Amino acid sequence: MSALLNADLHCHSLVSDGTLEPAVLARRAQRNGVDLWALTDHDAVGGLEEAARACADIGLAFVAGVEISVSVLDQTVHVVGLGVDAGHAGLQRELGRLCAGRDARAQAISDALREHTGVDDAYAGASRLAGNPALISRTHFARHLVARGVCSSTGEVFSRFLTPGKPGYVEHTWASLQQAVQWIHDAGGLAVLAHPGRYRFRQDQEEAMLREFLELGGEGIEVITSSHGAADWRKYTAVARSYGLRASRGSDFHCPRESRCDLGRLPPLPDGLRPIWDLLH
Ligand code: AMP
Ligand code: MN
Ligand code: MN
Ligand code: MN
Repeated sequence: MSALLNADLHCHSLVSDGTLEPAVLARRAQRNGVDLWALTDHDAVGGLEEAARACADIGLAFVAGVEISVSVLDQTVHVVGLGVDAGHAGLQRELGRLCAGRDARAQAISDALREHTGVDDAYAGASRLAGNPALISRTHFARHLVARGVCSSTGEVFSRFLTPGKPGYVEHTWASLQQAVQWIHDAGGLAVLAHPGRYRFRQDQEEAMLREFLELGGEGIEVITSSHGAADWRKYTAVARSYGLRASRGSDFHCPRESRCDLGRLPPLPDGLRPIWDLLH
């Protein structure tokens, strides 16, 4: 497969914090010219069967994926698994355990938002917006606060309330990097470090994480993602080359109104990178 393939290997359905159904995303991807598409819901594989069926119906090449929440030092890092077996019992069990802490976290976020915004039904509101009761995300709280008129955009809710150091942020411990890579490999998938330009590590911390990821057998890194600007494309092109990682490309599309980048509407991979999709079949 070519580096110029319109591969979009990162996006979300209402099984996590996206707003569209898997089959609707599949049709949107095809309409936007995507040649190879992956659904990668946060910590959940419940949308993959519907997505695969929809892709079979419309003749779109599909990759079953997942985006696993990981704690590294004091930050949340995301690892995308591509080409996983959606029916893998071990993966389903571990993701179920990982999500089990979300409900108590959502209650704590709701308490903090009541105190700092006066909104007294944040838990109920976020739950109502969550397509999957096991997966209440900060995104659902952000949408609820916009609906209540506290902020004018979800981005504003995140920057005022839901990011580290802000009053509605609740610390949480996710999977370890080792666990996430292991679960993905056990389910037959390839592990890809998602949107590395978003993390706030010092240079030496980032290098340590990349070395650990490589030692664990991680295969790829997102170079082209809606989270990156031109400086990040250049930086992570160099990182992919020097660490010998395969390069990935994904819009991280969540919602037509909120997302910066629609499915398939990304620049091509920079020259000289080895695409992760050459390893997917
Ligand atoms: P959670 O897994 O519940 O912590 O939610 C994480 C999700 O929140 C991410 O996958 C993004 O979709 C969204 N998110 C995180 N930070 C921001 C931000 N600064 N602006 C908008 N959305 C964000
Ligand atoms: Mn998300
Ligand atoms: Mn992510
Ligand atoms: Mn994502």
